[in-house]
Amino acid sequence: MSYSIMKHPQIKTFYTQKMSLTQENDNSSQSPEKPKRLIEFLSREGLLEYFNIEDDFTPYEVEDFYIAHTKEYVDSFFSDDLGKRYKRLLGLTWNKEFADTTRFTNASLYHAILTSIKNPDQVCFSPTSGFHHAIPGKGAFYCSFAGQVIASMKIYREFGLSGSYIDLDGHYGNSIDNGYDFVKDLDKAIPPEIGNINIESKHQMYLDELKERLEQLEKYIVEDKIHYVVFCHGADSHQWDDMGYQLTTDEWIKCSELVYSFIDKLQQKLNRQIPLALSLFGGYRRDDYDSVLALHTADLVMCLNILCGQDITYNPEVKEKVYNI
Ligand SMILES: [Zn+2]
Repeated sequence: MSYSIMKHPQIKTFYTQKMSLTQENDNSSQSPEKPKRLIEFLSREGLLEYFNIEDDFTPYEVEDFYIAHTKEYVDSFFSDDLGKRYKRLLGLTWNKEFADTTRFTNASLYHAILTSIKNPDQVCFSPTSGFHHAIPGKGAFYCSFAGQVIASMKIYREFGLSGSYIDLDGHYGNSIDNGYDFVKDLDKAIPPEIGNINIESKHQMYLDELKERLEQLEKYIVEDKIHYVVFCHGADSHQWDDMGYQLTTDEWIKCSELVYSFIDKLQQKLNRQIPLALSLFGGYRRDDYDSVLALHTADLVMCLNILCGQDITYNPEVKEKVYNI
């Protein structure tokens, strides 16, 4: 083994059933059920043994959401009368159970980052989505709250540490940019120059741009200006996603390889562990949701193989989209 630096053989996963909706609903997004569906999918694929599940973490209190949002929005979100007011913006049907899931999904991301900082040899995973479009005054496009902003502000206030998000969802994650005016010190918690990496090109240009951004990120990590990394490999950057067009299956998986190899090489170069947390973000297939879950699984297996010393063979079944014209 050439590894002098190796992470823990399992991925620590902050998951409880309270993160997912259980009731039937008419949402156009599958996001509220995503954590549960992914864990079930990993189980069906015989891969759950690689995930060390922590289900006993503290959910957010309503006050935690004030960090990134107006009191008016937060209070009305958690009150019974909200549904009709924000439904159209969110694209989600509000109910009490859905509101409660957000306290757990947002806290899951925070605990994943926190644990990766406390135990940098441990890759941590928050099987969540639905954060990166929310702005201070309201949620938008399936995203209720700016989970990254809240988590990173809590980390910054507790430890003075700064993070970078590699957000490879198919849509630009605006919640960080839109938070700078509202949240004091957000520019220190998530530095604008490198804290929110999004790629908007496609195919080979996408891969080239990702490599460039990772080279930039390396400088910030080497200079100790970025202390932890959060990788969010949204599956809606895949070309057959209902909302995607950017990457083929091979290219999408290549992005995972680039990111995890980047962390691996940099750890060896610096001879220290770099805290790494993962989140899911988008992914929508009305025709075959398993294709979305298979992509996320391929990403996680890449992480296990490159960073956790595993040697797992996994060929994701991503069904070609049939367009009904
Ligand atoms: Zn998206």
